Amino acid sequence: MSDSAPVFSAADTEQVTCCLCGDAGALLYDLPPYGMRRCACCTLVFVSPRLRAEALSRFYDQVGYFEGGVYGDRSRWSPAMALQRVWTSGRLNRIAKAGSSTRKGDRCAAGQRLLEFGSGYGLFLAAARDRGYDVQGVELSRPAAQVTAKQGIAVHCGQLVDAPLSGPYDVICGWDTLEHVPDPLAVLHRIHELIAGDGTVAISTPYFSSLPSRLLRERWWTLKPTEHIWHYTPYTLRLLAARAGFTVIDVIRSPLAPANLTRLDSLVVLLRPA
Ligand SMILES: [Zn+2]
Repeated sequence: MSDSAPVFSAADTEQVTCCLCGDAGALLYDLPPYGMRRCACCTLVFVSPRLRAEALSRFYDQVGYFEGGVYGDRSRWSPAMALQRVWTSGRLNRIAKAGSSTRKGDRCAAGQRLLEFGSGYGLFLAAARDRGYDVQGVELSRPAAQVTAKQGIAVHCGQLVDAPLSGPYDVICGWDTLEHVPDPLAVLHRIHELIAGDGTVAISTPYFSSLPSRLLRERWWTLKPTEHIWHYTPYTLRLLAARAGFTVIDVIRSPLAPANLTRLDSLVVLLRPA
């Protein structure tokens, strides 16, 4: 994160409840001005108080937002970019495999429509386009959306639920995005409207019940309560998916799988309309 990252106070925050149950949740970690809570009904973990929408926009509009992590060095041979390519290729392979099981052996991506929400700089979309997908992105950060548009990729700048999109899409994916959105149930409902009946939804997200999270508790490096406002386990992801009309068809949690390589505290999940 850059030195000019905005500083937020309690005045920038709002209280929310579990998106599945409406429960106010029991406090797990007190992280002023934020609180991390667990729903007493379904165990979904969420941040409340959390940043209000306008404060969140200020946060994501920082030009430096994507520069701190794996996108800091986008040169072709940087180790971070090499890892990105392994994830991208591994995920596209899992998506093709899932599609082939419902589409009678048709593994050809040519002409299939792929939408990514939270598309960042468009790295995954560019790789999917190289495989023949007809790609489109949705990205909240204006600087990142501009970088994507410069590569000739159609991208809507804003939230998925507000984007003027028309389905059906064969594939919809969101990499490390579902933990950032104000209402993940609304996002999955919108995805359900947009996905083809035999389409595949692919998501990655921090893994709240992973070993690093359980050992490090509030010092877990992926907690990031400013931006990671929902935290999932395989169990709560299944609940959320089912409520939106999806079945979980694949859960990848091994740090040895190419789709999740080296990531001890990340889940990759594939869904299909139920
Ligand atoms: Zn709940």
